[in-house]
Amino acid sequence: MDEKLTPEILSEYYEKKFPIDTFMAYIGLSNFKNREFGFVVGQDRFVRNISFQNTEKLLDFMVNKSVKHSYVGAVYETPPSREHPIQKIKWSYREFIYDIDIDEYDLVRTCGCQGDQYCKECWSLVQDAAVFIDKTMREDFGFKDIVWFFSGRRGVHGWVKDSITQDFDQRQRVAILDYLTFIHDEKRSQSIDEIPNEAKPLRNRIYALTAKSYLEKSTPKKLHEFGISINKAKEIIKQVQNSTDFDHTKYNILIPDDSAVRKKLSSEIVLRRYPRIDRKVTMDTRRVSRMPFSVHGKTGQIAIEIKDIKNFYPDSAPTIWEALM
Ligand SMILES: [Zn+2]
Repeated sequence: MDEKLTPEILSEYYEKKFPIDTFMAYIGLSNFKNREFGFVVGQDRFVRNISFQNTEKLLDFMVNKSVKHSYVGAVYETPPSREHPIQKIKWSYREFIYDIDIDEYDLVRTCGCQGDQYCKECWSLVQDAAVFIDKTMREDFGFKDIVWFFSGRRGVHGWVKDSITQDFDQRQRVAILDYLTFIHDEKRSQSIDEIPNEAKPLRNRIYALTAKSYLEKSTPKKLHEFGISINKAKEIIKQVQNSTDFDHTKYNILIPDDSAVRKKLSSEIVLRRYPRIDRKVTMDTRRVSRMPFSVHGKTGQIAIEIKDIKNFYPDSAPTIWEALM
């Protein structure tokens, strides 16, 4: 961050540049007054259980309070307020959201980055994960309306907006998560071959996307560690890099027919590159999520909509200072 994020500059952004109409188009106007919002205001005080009569009042609040962080939550049967917090009122509906953060990969990042740090090498994990989830939601579940947003710092949020998902309760959200995250252990030691048959589209996708990404970024020396000869490893990497329609069949032809080699390699692929999802964000319908197009109070970056998730890199997201230029 080159400049200081002052209350004045935050107010100016929300007054002049925050695209409230675009934001509203994402969450919809129906039952707006029953929608929960949360903010970080003043000296890093987090307030939630706030609702507004209309969008003008929401915008007034953001301008007048110079909000540092802004979050949007679920819709309730009555407007949330300090007197009627969300725990005491009935939940009505909520967008179905995926959260991918680069620090979830700390255990398996090899570039040296940790926590909030990212580089071109490790950020590709976030890009891969988003593409994988996006495809899975569309192809395996038939959802059509999926939008990705930058979180403003170290990750991305995928909003599945198909109206059917808004009514999903926690149990239904967990069922979809379980399908997507068949690997539950921290170390992700489960190998690809152990994916149950009913998850075939998912298994095929792991070869087409995850294995492809792993192999084309690999080195002959690395593949040699799994018992593949250096020459064969060179051939594998070259073939995968040149392949435009890599899939399970091509993987089977290319990788030596040795079960020990295959098992080790597939485990490594899943461990290193399979999407890591913050489950709580997706399953907890009472959580608040960063408001699209709001400012991240630590980086000053805008939580923009990502048009091309496969190629999005955080440095390309505008800062509040750029937005106001
Ligand atoms: Zn890195």
